[in-house]
Amino acid sequence: MPELPEVETVRRGLEQKLKNFIIKRVEICRDSTVAYPIDKKAFIEGLQNSLIDKWDRRGKYLIAELKKTKSNNIDANEILFVNNGVLVVHLRMTGYFTYNDIITHPCKHTRIRLFDNNKNELRYIDVRSFGQMWWVRDGLSPNNIIKGLGTLGPEPFSKNFNIRYLRKVILNKTRSIKSILLDQTIVAGIGNIYADESLYSAGISPFREAKTIKENELKKLKIAIVEVLKKSIGAGGTTFSDFRDLEGENGNFGLQTNVYRRTGKQCRQCKNLIERQKISGRSTHWCRKCQK
Ligand SMILES: [Zn+2]
Repeated sequence: MPELPEVETVRRGLEQKLKNFIIKRVEICRDSTVAYPIDKKAFIEGLQNSLIDKWDRRGKYLIAELKKTKSNNIDANEILFVNNGVLVVHLRMTGYFTYNDIITHPCKHTRIRLFDNNKNELRYIDVRSFGQMWWVRDGLSPNNIIKGLGTLGPEPFSKNFNIRYLRKVILNKTRSIKSILLDQTIVAGIGNIYADESLYSAGISPFREAKTIKENELKKLKIAIVEVLKKSIGAGGTTFSDFRDLEGENGNFGLQTNVYRRTGKQCRQCKNLIERQKISGRSTHWCRKCQK
């Protein structure tokens, strides 16, 4: 599943590719991909004639700011832009975008197609179909409409994600520190890969009860999270259409992991073998010697 670094890589790719992309035609190939508005016609009409102005990211959500084009009555050559809300995308397990500047036949996993006037296409493909899109019109709050977005914890790179905050969230928590890191309402954007890698870097066992993590360990953990995420964003600078290779075991970052998907391989620090065990249904990779 794409996590913060992969989604950030996609965001950068979209921003680079889609300069002055004005959506002229919308094709919904699978209804369930559109989460909001419920009325598919409203989704299509909402997006039509919208300029994709800017791509933001919050946690694992991609957020495109839209401007609606209106031709100026006084001067027909001049186009006016007014705010037209946001298009929000969550890739979930297998969602990804391709940008096509020549017409190609869509594969059977194509869910949404957005075309501009010059036959360029932004295509959304999703094999497992858990990904979703929302169009939230101007004046409505995306945080109210998209529950997962409204309840997100702080971004790992923001100043709100600090030791005081971490101390507060682990207080009295008997859950494992790994499950705390995976909880999107506590910190946004971390998934299985980066939880395992950060805990390894910080020398903390993923099975530790959160409340037992000491102050100096919390500091190490916070630094490890930021460093691991930054490093992997740096490694994610691939071409846009190659994103698919970025997720899972074939990913660029996957080559450099210390524990994730290295079960049975030697720890890079102590040569002990990396182990794998489940925590709340998620495979957890760790070194018994280096992580206490
Ligand atoms: Zn080790």
